[in-house]
Amino acid sequence: MSASRPPSVDALARSLSSTGLPHALLVEVARESIASGNWEVAADRAELLARSFLQPVINASGVLLHTNLGRAPLPHSGDGHAVNLEFDLATGRRGSRQAAVGGLLARLCGAEAAVVVNNNAAAVLLVVSALAEGREVLVSRGESVEIGGGFRVPEVMEQSGATLVDVGTTNRTRAEDYQRRVSDRTALILKIHPSNYRVEGFVEEATVSDLAPIGVPVVSDIGSGLVDASCPWISSGPPAWLVGEPAARQTLAAGASLVMFSTDKLFGGPQAGVIAGNAALIERCARHPLMRALRPGALVLSTLQEVALAYLRREADRTVPFWAMATAPASEIERRARALQVGRVVALESLPGAGSLPGMTVPSFGIVLDGDRSEQLRLHRPPVIARVREQQTYLDLRTVAPEDDPVVAHAVGALTP
Ligand SMILES: *Cc1c(COP(=O)(O)O)cnc(C)c1O
Repeated sequence: MSASRPPSVDALARSLSSTGLPHALLVEVARESIASGNWEVAADRAELLARSFLQPVINASGVLLHTNLGRAPLPHSGDGHAVNLEFDLATGRRGSRQAAVGGLLARLCGAEAAVVVNNNAAAVLLVVSALAEGREVLVSRGESVEIGGGFRVPEVMEQSGATLVDVGTTNRTRAEDYQRRVSDRTALILKIHPSNYRVEGFVEEATVSDLAPIGVPVVSDIGSGLVDASCPWISSGPPAWLVGEPAARQTLAAGASLVMFSTDKLFGGPQAGVIAGNAALIERCARHPLMRALRPGALVLSTLQEVALAYLRREADRTVPFWAMATAPASEIERRARALQVGRVVALESLPGAGSLPGMTVPSFGIVLDGDRSEQLRLHRPPVIARVREQQTYLDLRTVAPEDDPVVAHAVGALTP
């Protein structure tokens, strides 16, 4: 025990800033250390946390393909180092590839736990296989959908060995419709967000908060990977075009036991899928034999870790390329379009894409050229991909990194008149 008065949480957290950890994590370390009555250990705790993250290591073991160091060395930022993929730097023993990044994702979603798999399709397959094999899963007829090539809910269900029970009708499904189909064979209620289409008119949907009281675990495929509807990582707050998009934190708070989402859509990371929520259910998913087949490697996990840390540092709107592009003010894009000094500057509408947010657009600027110049632009090194409509070629600068503006100007300038 320490004899002196405890420091403030904030002062203690600030004193740990040389670890390079996001302030939110240091505040937690400081709080825990003060609560334990022994705040002198805060620096050690912070150091231990920093060491739990993936990082380059020198493999001097003499084992060329060291399983716990990610087998073949990673082309990690081109530096050729091994990485502590399943190696606990604190104990020197085998560790979990999921622990560090899972902890960061759980924190972002307000979940007890999280695991990462190769994509969202894998997340849904694993959840249903691990939690409902040989039992029944209730799905609204309005959500028994195909999302992208080959990802069809009834077929995923068949693969998992669970029985799909259709509930309600295509346009209207109420909580009572689910309630009526619940029996001792029911394992889960599965909600699937219609990411890539929209049903309008005489429609009704039972929400997660309507379904949670039924008492069967509600698992929700929210699709696009918005982690928090309040977007604390965007300094100007949530953009208008995000309205209505389900978010992990709010879906869990509404009573979902688990959420599943892609990390290469609105999350802005590499291709992967996340399962976040109740720790006991996550544990059952993590122990299922399919997990081995669905787990990502060190390249994906370390990139995902970088993205999660950027969110926690509240700098994702600057350092995660998707959010930097998505949140750039239209006025700034207009300025860049004028600075190109090629083509005619026009106001444009960018699209979220990836089947996310159908019907939503983001105001943007770019340039327009007469005729279809798309093939010539594709032939440029590096290729420039444009949009063609009614014999006009549009180049939208929202999706171009500002440092690539000179490349666009060069490609357009090099077109034959
Ligand atoms: C995109 C999406 C999927 C498929 O995700 P992948 O990561 O591409 O496997 C599944 N469900 C919903 C609701 C989606 O939006």
